[in-house]
Amino acid sequence: MTYSYTQISQYLTCPRRYRHRYLDGWKEKDTRAAMLFGRAFERALGAVFRREDPGAVLFAEWSACQSEGLNYSSGDSWDRMLQQGIMLLTRFCQDSRVRITQPQRNLQIKFSRPVGDKNDFVAYIDAIGKLDGKRCLLEWKTSSSRYPEEPEGLLSLDPQLVCYSWMTGIAEVTQVVFVRKRLVEVQYLRTTITDEQREEFGSLVEGTIRRIESADFLPHSGIRFPQNPCSSCP
Ligand code: SF4
Repeated sequence: MTYSYTQISQYLTCPRRYRHRYLDGWKEKDTRAAMLFGRAFERALGAVFRREDPGAVLFAEWSACQSEGLNYSSGDSWDRMLQQGIMLLTRFCQDSRVRITQPQRNLQIKFSRPVGDKNDFVAYIDAIGKLDGKRCLLEWKTSSSRYPEEPEGLLSLDPQLVCYSWMTGIAEVTQVVFVRKRLVEVQYLRTTITDEQREEFGSLVEGTIRRIESADFLPHSGIRFPQNPCSSCP
């Protein structure tokens, strides 16, 4: 069986939800505009490094989503998000802080590793390149609000970054956050993942897979404000 970060994180959120999604095959079409915009924007970022026209790629990708019956968050619209995307791409190119050589090899890179005797773990890393001249693993995020930068060390607790560091063995990781707000902003958040964190993540994956294989699919303990994953569960 092949596992991914999304599967492990879904199981840890709610084992019952994991069962519905991955064993019963319950999948709903995702029409969240912000999520689909994020995918279109990431393809446009790829065009930046391949020296193609990122604005044209964003327009084409975002146009393809237009007929999907998108659900917009308050204040968002298709036009407004396109405009923000173009401004963010312009800002990112002006900043010129990220370098990716050989984009065909170093963007959307597939990594896989064995877990135990019969399982694999697979991850797609957004990019490996340099930020301000220093080699690092890069992850793109689009958001309608800034990511918190305090307290110090917060980013190193991001489980997805720890997972990617565990998969690649790269300690230096950077999250580039494209913030869609009235005055757009690009955040370059850098952190270091330790050997101990990577080891712990490997143990977490093994332990989670053992629970999945032993058919432990109890629902999580329920709803309690403000931690309320049930309210967003399909
Ligand atoms: S509604 Fe809540 S308990 Fe039920 S599967 Fe979804 S997250 Fe789990």
